[in-house]
Amino acid sequence: MIRILIAEDEPGIALGLEDDLTMEGYEVEVVADGNTASRRAVESAFDLILLDVMLPGKDGFDVCRELRRRGMKTPILILTAKAQEAEKVMGLELGADDYVTKPFGTRELRARIKALLRRSRGEESECYSFGEVEVDFARGELRRRGEVVELTPLEFKLLELFIRSRGRVLSRERLLAGAWAPDTFASDRVVDNHIANLRRKIEPDPANPRYLRNLRGLGYRFDG
Ligand code: CA
Repeated sequence: MIRILIAEDEPGIALGLEDDLTMEGYEVEVVADGNTASRRAVESAFDLILLDVMLPGKDGFDVCRELRRRGMKTPILILTAKAQEAEKVMGLELGADDYVTKPFGTRELRARIKALLRRSRGEESECYSFGEVEVDFARGELRRRGEVVELTPLEFKLLELFIRSRGRVLSRERLLAGAWAPDTFASDRVVDNHIANLRRKIEPDPANPRYLRNLRGLGYRFDG
């Protein structure tokens, strides 16, 4: 059974979510503050976390940051009350996978949950292919037209991060947080250099990248 943790302090919304997701066949646990959310997420294996931003104790951003710092990969869907771009971007940069803005429709929320669960199940697959390239996560290997291409551990981590977040823009900060060791200092240019190296290994024409796109002022997106 798929287990969802809901961290929401407004009883009406929490109850509505609990009812709706239980009806959908999920096993649901509701907590009403950030500290409990962090604790339960660590204690118990959830398949997805619905995380309100404004929570008593720790806010949703802090919870998200903390869980990602612990290396937890559970998909996190942020519930934000404000339709402000800054808040959405912040949630995604802290490692959330998606967000919905309150008030949301149950149909939209269900669709987002399903998409995230599908994506996270896809992540468990051992291989991913695009173009001439096959990435074997179990062996930590990249093959191009069947031939092994040497990647540095950092390049492999970057590629893995892109594949797991395909179709989504990743800022340089997000790439730094996801692929570099914690507390390493690396500039934007270092990120760009590693991406240039990676492109040479995966792109048919590295000068006109098809898979690793740069979005000016935003970051990079993998379309594979
Ligand atoms: Ca709240």
